[in-house]
Parts: sequence; structure tokens; C-alpha cells
Amino acid sequence: MIHRKSARDLDRMAAAGAIVAETLGLLAETARPGMSTLDLDQIAERHIRAAGGVPTFKGYRGFPGSICASPNTMIVHGIPSDEIVLVEGDILSVDVGVTRQGFVGDSAVTIAIGEVPERTRELLRTCQASLQAAVEACHVGGRLGDIGAAVQGVVETAGFAVVRDLVGHGVGRSMHEDPQVKNYGEAGTGPELKAGMTLAIEPMITDGAYEIHIDDDGWSIFTVDDSLAAHFEHTVAITEEGPRVLTLAHGDSIVNRPI
Ligand code: MG
Ligand code: MG
Repeated sequence: MIHRKSARDLDRMAAAGAIVAETLGLLAETARPGMSTLDLDQIAERHIRAAGGVPTFKGYRGFPGSICASPNTMIVHGIPSDEIVLVEGDILSVDVGVTRQGFVGDSAVTIAIGEVPERTRELLRTCQASLQAAVEACHVGGRLGDIGAAVQGVVETAGFAVVRDLVGHGVGRSMHEDPQVKNYGEAGTGPELKAGMTLAIEPMITDGAYEIHIDDDGWSIFTVDDSLAAHFEHTVAITEEGPRVLTLAHGDSIVNRPI
């Protein structure tokens, strides 16, 4: 069952989403070699609570962190840890969820720690571009498959791989609602996109194989072949006026940070 939101609901989701965007911006500015992912988690939690939000991930099915922090070959769901210390040349997916006034905003960026090789930069740029293409496919009367096809087209044209076993999702009063939002597929297929639908679109891509490996901790998900992975996400509403990105800080364009 796909829950559609009122205009008022969308404004509430955008208020939660603005805190998410500010938090991601803060983490991207702050992250540097020598910091641990637990340091970033604590910075994020303080910022989210000071802004009047609640970190959605904390306690979700027992998840201990306020953010997911997934370095290098880890695709998503990394548990913040004082044993994971950033070094120059790392990339790090940071994923933030905030609940405020009963609604959730969910967004992620992959950030480069210092200088990274051009191929790595291209991986990040491609993932971000695929998210932008997916957002632009979010029109009333379109189909859910248009979103996955948009991501897959950008990613595979650039020579990278789309992870198949992890998907985006509806989002609203709960972090995970119907439908699943695949990052691959056929345009013109699947449920019709209707005004008031709100989707967390989150391409996860690799510079190698698309298969995944789940760590013994039950959370951390890695590429199966130790290739680097990137992950970008926005919460997006389908409206009669076109796509509305709900996870933006004031004044941001569709994608938060140029690479
Ligand atoms: Mg997320
Ligand atoms: Mg999500």
C-alpha cells in the first residue's frame, strides 16, 4: 500500500529533510583524516537534536548509530565506530535520517576525504548524476520503472555497476514504506507515479561487480569483490508541479554538494 501525502505532510517532511541536509553538509565539511566514524556520529546526533529532530536510525532494529557511515568498499549500513578512522584518500557514504513532527527525511552523500584518484571521483560524480536523473524522472503519470531505468542508464553508460540487492523505498510517517524503488529496470513499467507519493531514491553503485556481501555484524554491507562503492540519496515527492526534493537545506540545488 503506497501512502500518499497531503501538501501539509510534504512541508513537514521538508522540515525534517532540511535537518538531514544540514547535517550532511556539516559532516562533509567536518570529516577529515584522523577522525573516526563515531566522531561523525556524535557530531550528527548533537546537530539533529539541537535542530529539534530525532535521529531516525538510532535504535531501528537495534542499530546503534545516529548515522550510517560506510567507507570505501562498504556500500551501506556501516555502524559508526571509534575503530574506523578516516585516512586521506578514503571515500565515505554518510546516510542520515531525521524524524520531526511525525515525518521522516532520508538522504545520503558519499564524500571524499582529501584527494582521491580521478576514477574514484568519477564514481562519485556518476552516482550523484544518476540520482539527479532519477529525480527528474519523478513525474505524475510516469511509472516507478522510469526511476530505476534512469539510474541504470547513467551508471552503466559510465562503466559502473548498479547494486541489485539493495533498493530505495517509500518514506513518510515510517522510514520504510511501499514501494521498493529499484535502481535498475524498464521505463514504462511498474506502479503509476501519483501526486503525493514520497520516495527515498538511493542509487548504490560499484566500480566492479554488483553482488554484495553482508558482514558478520549483521549490518555492514560490502561489495563482494572489494571494489569501491558510492551511495547518494534524496527523499523526493511526486507533485503536479514536478519533482520536489524534500531533503534540501535552504538554497540548495537538487544535488547537495558538487564534487
Ligand atoms: Mg538513507
Ligand atoms: Mg533510504
